[in-house]
Amino acid sequence: MTRPCIICVAITGSLPTKTDNPAVPITVSEQIESTQEAFEAGASIVHAHVRNADQSPSSDPEAFAALKDGIEKHCPGMIIQFSTGGRSGAGQERGGMLPLRPDMASLSVGSNNFPARVYDNPPDLVDWLAKEMMANGIKPEIEAFDLSHIFKAAEMYRNGQIAEIPYVQFVMGVRNAMPADRAVFDFYVQTVKRLFGAETHWCAAGIGHAQLALNEWAISGGGHVRTGLEDNVRLDRDRLAPSNAALVRRAVEICEAQKRPVASPQEAREMLGLRPAGRC
Ligand SMILES: [Zn+2]
Repeated sequence: MTRPCIICVAITGSLPTKTDNPAVPITVSEQIESTQEAFEAGASIVHAHVRNADQSPSSDPEAFAALKDGIEKHCPGMIIQFSTGGRSGAGQERGGMLPLRPDMASLSVGSNNFPARVYDNPPDLVDWLAKEMMANGIKPEIEAFDLSHIFKAAEMYRNGQIAEIPYVQFVMGVRNAMPADRAVFDFYVQTVKRLFGAETHWCAAGIGHAQLALNEWAISGGGHVRTGLEDNVRLDRDRLAPSNAALVRRAVEICEAQKRPVASPQEAREMLGLRPAGRC
């Protein structure tokens, strides 16, 4: 049977602003509205950052709490994933919202370059974030910006720092990190299957114009996908994406063309081994 495809929508991120695309949701209420529209279009995971009023990145646990409440109310069953990514704060501030016990959180397990800075993930911080996630019953999503990050995830699984088989997301197309290279992508998939088993779930995200290619590669390759304005604000060279939902609809269309059913939130929870919605 064809495995349903989980669509994750990365609604806001740390970088894009209203100047890049007026549809980028910044306030918590804009984020809830944009998530609901994406949920209704077929997204079953929301990956979220929060912002300050001036649009700069924030790690404010209160904003995360308000966002979580709103999504739970308006998007029943949707999987909530908070970002512990590096732009929103320094050190342990990045995990200050984990006691809110979202279903999932992103976990970067190694360092690499970003377009204008080092994405700094020192080993002691990685260990601490993994420990906090485990203590709060949160499933990590491993952000693999590089091949070595997949091996680090395998080591952490062996050491008991990650409770279940790691759910790895390949991130490609970040300037100064791994480009969207098809042969590398295929090797990533092969490596995840070799380390974690042929049936292992994995997903992929492409940045900027690489989003569409990575959506297509992951959907046709049996993986899951991420889309959304965090990674890409355009539909194509000439048009801005009118909403997060529009990018979700684009992923749904690829699923239809590839004969992959789109996973419901409940199917996504079962595939990822998450607790049923509403239970802590
Ligand atoms: Zn993010």
